[in-house]
Amino acid sequence: MYRPERMCAVCRTKKDKSELIRIVRSPEGVFSLDGTGNSPGRGAYLCRSEKCLTQCVKKRLLNRVFKAEVPEDIYETVAGMCSEDK
Ligand SMILES: [Zn+2]
Repeated sequence: MYRPERMCAVCRTKKDKSELIRIVRSPEGVFSLDGTGNSPGRGAYLCRSEKCLTQCVKKRLLNRVFKAEVPEDIYETVAGMCSEDK
């Protein structure tokens, strides 16, 4: 079976797609957390680790990845996932 690998936007480690969180910008320009991993649009991937999620939020890394202003509620959701992980 084909297991696609994706790179974490923070630590640049390649991991199985299922181990990463995907944030997607739809063709309409709407950002969301993609639970299925199959939503259309451009995606960014993050490890499900507190370190990477915290770094992402702190440095507003998604803005850089998407070259756009990512809404604050997306960062809040990502930050919320840090504590869930414990
Ligand atoms: Zn990472």
